[in-house]
Amino acid sequence: MSTRPIDAPPFKVWLLVLTVMVAGCGPTQSSEGEAARVLSEAAETITLRYLGAAGWEITAPSEGEAEPVIVLVDPYLTRAKYDGQPSPDPTDTRPVYNRTDTLFSDTEVIDAQIQRADYILVQHSHPDHVMDVPYLANKTGAVVIGHESTINIMRAYGVPDQQLITVRGGEDYDFGDVSIRVIPSLHSPLGDKRYYQSEVVEAGATRPLRISQLVEGGSLMFLVRIGGHEVMTMGSMNYIAREVEGLRPDVALVGAAPSHLEIFEYTPRLMAALGYPPVVIPTHADNFRAPYGSEIAYRTEWVDAFAEEVRLASPDSRVIIPKHLEPIRLGGR
Ligand SMILES: [Zn+2]
Repeated sequence: MSTRPIDAPPFKVWLLVLTVMVAGCGPTQSSEGEAARVLSEAAETITLRYLGAAGWEITAPSEGEAEPVIVLVDPYLTRAKYDGQPSPDPTDTRPVYNRTDTLFSDTEVIDAQIQRADYILVQHSHPDHVMDVPYLANKTGAVVIGHESTINIMRAYGVPDQQLITVRGGEDYDFGDVSIRVIPSLHSPLGDKRYYQSEVVEAGATRPLRISQLVEGGSLMFLVRIGGHEVMTMGSMNYIAREVEGLRPDVALVGAAPSHLEIFEYTPRLMAALGYPPVVIPTHADNFRAPYGSEIAYRTEWVDAFAEEVRLASPDSRVIIPKHLEPIRLGGR
């Protein structure tokens, strides 16, 4: 499939506007149903699945091929308890890991959810972003796109060079069925803005790596053009204003955990820079140390507060609150 031109046909634009208007009428069952009907009439549909943490699966039909194109972003399904504390969820009887333990993946959980992937995008190489990527890359043969720390982690776990693309931010690569703009970014301002990590994972690193060796290595965002849509991804609660100014994603996956409140007018400035995206979906605002299905797997209060910020800053945006692993289907723009 070739990349959609930015000036999409007016009919599709009209459909999207109508969809947003209908969705904005109110949270009633009938307007949701109407929105779904309008969406289903659109020419191309992408499906997003929230994998938890900053993880997403984006799927679009691939022209002339039986298999759809699948992009994974920061896919982290293991949701390990790796801070050495017992789980606050008494039903979570999984082992507790320390940061000095070597990284591992819950292959049973992953295999139940992910069969294929074409591209894996990694926004930084902390464990809740990168830990499952070696397993997924080796399992699927997907091309991994990330900065040098991410790529060196892949090499340590035997992912072939043919599958590895190292980026620093600023690249805009065309793959035919999808194109990917790599956006320089910043990590969340953790620890009351005192967080700073300059380490990298060196070339020549060998397995096994300890969880503590998974350092940030710099932060990225992505603009994924796929199936006629433009999906902007975030892996942290921060961004560089000049790097996102003028982007026009129709779907913005926005970091929504409370550290974003350390940033000056985070939500209104981002919404304005992006031209008030039709669809905004909060991300990286769940409890990624609790397994899927746990009563404490979500951070509802964080997500609801962020959704209210979006409603104030960008009233015409449709905010979708994602559930783990549930498909979100979006019609053509
Ligand atoms: Zn991080």
